[in-house]
Amino acid sequence: MRRLGIITLTNSAVVTPSLLSSTAAFTRTLTLPSLLRNHHLTNSIRFLESKSLVSCFSSSAAYLPSLDEFSSTTGSVARDDKQKVVLKGMSYASLQEWVESHGFRPGQAMMLWKRLYKDDIWANDVDELEGLNKDFKRMISEHAEFGALSFKDVRSASDGTRKILFTLSDGLVIETVVIPCDRGRTTVCVSSQVGCAMNCQFCYTGRMGLKRNLTAAEIVEQAVYARRLLSREFGSITNVVFMGMGEPFHNIDNVIKAANIMVDENGLHFSPRKVTVSTSGLVPQLKRFLRESNCALAVSLNATTDEVRNWIMPINRKYKLSLLLETLREELSTRHKYKVLFEYVMLAGVNDSMDDARRLVEIVKGIPCKINLIQFNPHSGSSFVQTDEETMIKFRNVVAEGGCTVLMRFSRGNDQMAACGQLGMLGAVQAPVMRVPEQFRTALKASV
Ligand code: SF4
Repeated sequence: MRRLGIITLTNSAVVTPSLLSSTAAFTRTLTLPSLLRNHHLTNSIRFLESKSLVSCFSSSAAYLPSLDEFSSTTGSVARDDKQKVVLKGMSYASLQEWVESHGFRPGQAMMLWKRLYKDDIWANDVDELEGLNKDFKRMISEHAEFGALSFKDVRSASDGTRKILFTLSDGLVIETVVIPCDRGRTTVCVSSQVGCAMNCQFCYTGRMGLKRNLTAAEIVEQAVYARRLLSREFGSITNVVFMGMGEPFHNIDNVIKAANIMVDENGLHFSPRKVTVSTSGLVPQLKRFLRESNCALAVSLNATTDEVRNWIMPINRKYKLSLLLETLREELSTRHKYKVLFEYVMLAGVNDSMDDARRLVEIVKGIPCKINLIQFNPHSGSSFVQTDEETMIKFRNVVAEGGCTVLMRFSRGNDQMAACGQLGMLGAVQAPVMRVPEQFRTALKASV
């Protein structure tokens, strides 16, 4: 349904812009007429779009929350509808506090924590809490829920990649991908939101708009469930990447909380270096992450000029390349042995010229980094074309000759829409396609 330069909306849909900055990007809510008539923001879809497109709808302007206000609220203890606590969203400190508040000892909290996350138990039910005393188990079954996700389906791609679908308590569906690798490494790619507001033009999830943030429990449980389901087959799941559905830093409270639970040495015990959180470039949240978390950072760069990045990643209209890169330069200057991973999705005729390669070397100078060149994963509705392998290799060589550490990543899970940028399911209303700069029009497929 991608149509270049045209918003795929009908007159029956109304767009109400919310100012993100006075000059550039906007967070917008697009609602179906019935929702709008009732002034309900629930079930609304949020996304970033350009000012030029917003102006078409300016007469319907009304106040809506800004990007920052979409960030999740986090209580210390998540509770489900029945007012039970959800165990998997709790930090160990909160769990201990909760256990003690019910008259049990801290040691019992640790035993519970280990059964949730360690020793290949990954308990998902009170019956799986072997070795805990009866009264403690009764209290848990009365006052706590184990999980926040319901398993829906698992799909296998021909290369061994698995896409797991989970239903949330409100009926929404999220996707988690498990990617086995022949070097004894298996990675789980977790989602942090249902959909995404960032509207990156090459990304299927971005077309969905944002439905809601995931709770810390919903994020952590994806990793726990992946271990439960696939460890026997794949061996240990060693790495976590926050590269599934959503912009993790748009849900930063819950993402930091979930990452902390994942690296707890008495629990899931992932190495912080092997838990990577990826961002499209939300600068204030990026600074916060670097100060509060010791997990790894990836930045989805994808362009070497503001002109291209403004188009393919609308967040760049708020946080320009120079600001993003300067922030990284400053923040990483004091960190020991810490490298940011730059991801660069290669789009034929858009960002894959040798000039781009040379510019890439220049713009990352002074930033301790590695660069991943990623093959674009096509999907229905996308007009972008994959860069061919020969061009990727030439590009890689120019970047390597410029002194950068650079790797190429080819598509995984493509045949099950499990590859990078392919997750999610489009609804009736989709995020708009951005205006294509004149000089790139011929690089795109004529129509899809
Ligand atoms: S690439 Fe990431 S940040 Fe961009 S729209 Fe897709 S999920 Fe969101």
